[in-house]
Amino acid sequence: MSDGIMIIGAGVAGINCALNAAKYGIKVYLVDDTPSIGGMMARLDKTFPTNDCSICIEAPQMYEVDNNPNIEILTNTEVRKVSKANGVFKVRVVKKAKFIDEEKCTGCRACMEACPVSVPDEMDGKIGGMRKLIYMPFPQAVPNKAVLDPDCRYGKKRSEGACVGGCVVDCSQCRECPIALCVAACRKEGKDAVRLWQANKNMDLEVKSIVVATGITDAKPPRGLHGYDIYDNVITNMQFERLMNAGGPTAGQIIRPSDKKHARKIAWIQCAGRGLDHGTPYCSKVCCMIAAKQVIITKEHDPSVKTTIYYNDLKAYGKGFWGFYQKAREHGVVYVRARPYDVFEIPGSRNLVIRYEDLDTGELRKDEVELLVLSTGLMPSDRNERLGKILKIPIDKLGYFKEKDPFFSPLETEVPGIYLCGGATGPIDISESVVQATAASMKAILHGTPMLGA
Ligand SMILES: Cc1cc2nc3c(=O)[nH]c(=O)nc-3n(C[C@H](O)[C@H](O)[C@H](O)COP(=O)(O)OP(=O)(O)OC[C@H]3O[C@@H](n4cnc5c(N)ncnc54)[C@H](O)[C@@H]3O)c2cc1C
Repeated sequence: MSDGIMIIGAGVAGINCALNAAKYGIKVYLVDDTPSIGGMMARLDKTFPTNDCSICIEAPQMYEVDNNPNIEILTNTEVRKVSKANGVFKVRVVKKAKFIDEEKCTGCRACMEACPVSVPDEMDGKIGGMRKLIYMPFPQAVPNKAVLDPDCRYGKKRSEGACVGGCVVDCSQCRECPIALCVAACRKEGKDAVRLWQANKNMDLEVKSIVVATGITDAKPPRGLHGYDIYDNVITNMQFERLMNAGGPTAGQIIRPSDKKHARKIAWIQCAGRGLDHGTPYCSKVCCMIAAKQVIITKEHDPSVKTTIYYNDLKAYGKGFWGFYQKAREHGVVYVRARPYDVFEIPGSRNLVIRYEDLDTGELRKDEVELLVLSTGLMPSDRNERLGKILKIPIDKLGYFKEKDPFFSPLETEVPGIYLCGGATGPIDISESVVQATAASMKAILHGTPMLGA
């Protein structure tokens, strides 16, 4: 009988679940289908309600996971098949090729410096972040190894400057790439870690319990919502988070996409798209605090920047959240109870005019701003449906995993031995995710253990 557990999803919830289980001597497989652990928190600037630096809190935990002998990290890895017999889950996972020998790569970045092609970085949306075709997901990534974009192989990026030379050999067959600049740069460092022919690898693992920690994604607004995707200076709160971030594409400068000038008048529209087609159909709980945080940090960068938040209802549900909202007010943000109904751009200045109904007076009003941020809410992981079928656990009508009974069996599912935590259960903040992670790991550890009095 296996005593190990598997955690699917390695954001802050999965990481804390793994660290807690490992403390009890349990073997943990920590699976994430992206190239690094860290999840959403690794993309954030600071975290409400304390405004501590997000990656400064998370990175030490990520390194602790990496160095814990009881935890095996499986990144770029998908769960494909799960069956249960005699109390044991047999799990087939596929470790997708990173085209790097992780034993040999030291993260020296010589390959990245040699790569001639840059593409938009998925971390940063439209605010200008770029990465190379061979890249590190972010500076503190764990594992701190390079990963190669699969699109780079088979000469697919030759027209953009990759694959210099006229090679026509199939990358999956060739063991001695004579032309790729990343291969040559790596060899020059004496490492030879780039493996253009690397194939996916199947692994069969056995565990006694599974924790699903697949988290959330930031909702992408539909084209045209308050001018999104039509006007350059309308961005999402996730994109603003990357703008504020010293490790982001503008090194923390709050500049607008259209002309790279510092934005001096910024507005946030809360509940953007909520209830509309393709919008988030529920309250995501955290957006009011995210906006308060973003205002406070903006004002700390430059107190003279004018900030307005258009909102309908205010949610400050957690410990210290009301005080945090008041702190935003003390920084001089203007809160307007409003229903914005359209946004248009002024030709020339590229400023935005927001027309709205003032919900306190009933008047129709308009304001001009230089940058508009849409607070679009949290959505479930787009891989939940597929994973739910593989694990045979139900998804609720919003796309999150369903708890067996939220009152009396929270974090449990219909399948004994499979548990949930963090954003896999619904919209959530970081501290609540960590509390759930600890509880779920204890349930996973104790699963199958005879209880006193039972
Ligand atoms: C713009 C923005 C700002 C925020 N600011 C704050 C803040 O200041 N303070 C705060 O408390 N909260 C904040 N939050 C919320 C916070 O990000 C979440 O509470 C937190 O990330 C939830 O952690 P998690 O581990 O459950 O999920 P995630 O961080 O989403 O991690 C889930 C992990 O699971 C992986 N995964 C998903 N599906 C699969 C699959 N099928 N197989 C394998 N792996 C999978 C993902 O790749 C990811 O690594 C913010 C959110 C946003 C969008």
